[in-house]
This record gives sequence, C-alpha cells and structure tokens, in this order.
Amino acid sequence: MMCPCCSSKTYDACCKSYLDGKQIPPTAEALMRSRYTAYSLANINYIADTMKEQALEGFDSKDAKAWAEQVQWQKLDVLNSHEQEDRATVEFRAYYVYNGKLQVMQENSVFRRILGRWYYIGTA
Ligand SMILES: [Zn+2]
Repeated sequence: MMCPCCSSKTYDACCKSYLDGKQIPPTAEALMRSRYTAYSLANINYIADTMKEQALEGFDSKDAKAWAEQVQWQKLDVLNSHEQEDRATVEFRAYYVYNGKLQVMQENSVFRRILGRWYYIGTA
C-alpha cells in the first residue's frame, strides 16, 4: 500500500516504522506526515504520544478517534516547512470527506524538539 501521507513511497518505506515506534521521525515535516497517516488509520495513540503543550489542551482521545473514523482522508499537501534548531513550522493543507462533503484544513503547525524528539505543540 502507498503511504497515506502522499510521499509517493510505500507505507512500509515511509511512516510505518514511526507508527510502530521502531524509529522516530528525523524532521518536523516527517513527524507531521506521520501524524496525518496516523489520523487516516485512526491510530490515536500515536497522535496523543506526539503532541505536547498547547496542542494537548482540549484534546480528547475518544473524540479524536470518533472523528478520525468518520472522515475519509484524501490528500496531504505540504506547502512550507521551516526548521531552526529545536523549533519548526510546517504549513499544510489536508483534504478529507466528512458527511459526504470535501473539506480542506489548512494549518501552520508548530513543532518543538525535546530530547532529540519532535513534538507537535500547536498552531502558529
Ligand atoms: Zn508517509
């Protein structure tokens, strides 16, 4: 199967090792892509494990799982990606179908590297 994150690699060669916990994403963009893949597979444990700080406020695993199971993820476009030392931003557009309607989510996500590992911490 092709990786849901639209990298044009297979899932095995792309996000799988991150979701399986065998490797950690080397860049904020790789983490962002793997979180998109996790949403598309409704793997909310991975989503919860890769976020901190502001991003965790109001996050509810059950709600996130229910939502992820109701949407059909279509496509991910990474528009911009900047990394500077332990802070990064990744701007993306994610397309999904919810209640039969195509929706577009655009976000400039902020990431922080803590002890060598990238986390999603909120939006810019
Ligand atoms: Zn991927």
